[in-house]
Amino acid sequence: MRNICVIGTGYVGLVSGAGMADFGNSVICADIDKSKIDMLQDGGIPIYEPGLKELVERNVNASRLTFSADVASSVKDAEVIFIAVGTPMGDNGEADLKMVEAVATTIAKNLNSYKIVCTKSTVPVGTGARLEALIEQGKESDFEFDVVSNPEFLREGSAVKDFLLPDRVVLGVNSERAANVMREVYRSLFINETPIVITNVPTAEMIKYASNAFLAVKISFINEMANLSDKVGADVHTIARAMGLDGRISSKFLHPGPGYGGSCFPKDTEALVYTGEQHGVDFQVVKAAIAANKSQRDVILAKAKELVPDLKGKTVAILGLAFKANTDDVRDTPALEIIQGLEAVGAIVKAYDPIASDNMKKFFLPNLDTRDSVVDTVTDADLVIILTPWNELRGLGLKDLKGYLNAPNIVDARNVLSVDQLKEYGYNYRNVGRSKI
Ligand code: NAD
Repeated sequence: MRNICVIGTGYVGLVSGAGMADFGNSVICADIDKSKIDMLQDGGIPIYEPGLKELVERNVNASRLTFSADVASSVKDAEVIFIAVGTPMGDNGEADLKMVEAVATTIAKNLNSYKIVCTKSTVPVGTGARLEALIEQGKESDFEFDVVSNPEFLREGSAVKDFLLPDRVVLGVNSERAANVMREVYRSLFINETPIVITNVPTAEMIKYASNAFLAVKISFINEMANLSDKVGADVHTIARAMGLDGRISSKFLHPGPGYGGSCFPKDTEALVYTGEQHGVDFQVVKAAIAANKSQRDVILAKAKELVPDLKGKTVAILGLAFKANTDDVRDTPALEIIQGLEAVGAIVKAYDPIASDNMKKFFLPNLDTRDSVVDTVTDADLVIILTPWNELRGLGLKDLKGYLNAPNIVDARNVLSVDQLKEYGYNYRNVGRSKI
């Protein structure tokens, strides 16, 4: 059991803080956003994440998990400090490390014992070394510290399960002392034989980008296969299934759609390309995946125009705003560019999402006409576009739905609807890679 402080109580910090408390550690989750901390102290959960409320409650009740807006004193009380603040995309595609560096400065000033400073934020290779230098320069005491890289692989929507039962844990360490402490932090996972990859800091930093970039490449690849399938009457789902049966390929991340989004793949792929450029390495494959992803938004818009050539003054019902199901996260969601594209040609957009509407309005589209139900959203629509594969949308009753529409046009950008039913009820439809089957 170790005393841990997690700095940054967002999607990653809150889940991993509560998760590490569940492993038996004593954890303070700290954040400069006082309103978030107040909410957590009052028993609220600032994000939507299945199972998180129960995990937090269990560990708060067991006195293993607390919250604080006083980052400095939280640092002083901890032996292991996890940095889990945001690393958004900078102006040139690089990872913006301002928040990470601000935390490093706070740690340096409050170094009152030996500490491990562990990056859980996704940071480019070389950041560990940079933080080490920053803390060494800024520290006001003689205490030692180790910098560790422990990239996080949880997925929003299944973050709790991913954290508690990960495929692997990656630990980049520079000393045996740090490795031993980190083994104790993750003792529960060592016991249940989770694969733990212990390596040096730069390798650990690279593993996260290599993993995310590879997954992004897979998505762009299958999207291009889907685009060709649409032209030639092939079924991309069958292609993906048969590809996935080859153990060298695996079936995961071969789902076509409107392109990847969210707070990780878009910025992490760009940051990897930027880091490559800094070192004279041209990431041609990743660059192509980024370009293909951007144009996949246009592919969906083109499908909308195939069904309704003149969208001016036409009502489009958007079903799904979150970048994927089971999250309220709308960062880099395909819905944003697709809605903007529709509005640019004069369409009237109404939108529904079970969870993410408030975030979409708060962060990106304050004037978006969001509705509280599918029925309200689709009533009198000339076109429906499904953008997030929420279970609720998978189960749409196509027979009844048709009665609400002005015209039976559907773009199923997530391939959640049955092609047989779309045909049976007389819809004009497009999907991604199955439109002609
Ligand atoms: P987030 O924006 O949800 O949370 C970051 C939190 O850090 C915010 O609550 C913010 O108030 C806080 N913060 C910022 N500066 C601070 C400071 N100086 N001191 C204390 N708190 C501060 O971000 P996130 O989605 O949790 O992502 C965090 C990191 O984890 C990023 O590097 C991201 O790439 C990485 N990551 C994210 C995911 C994911 O699914 N979201 C998965 C794996 C890795």
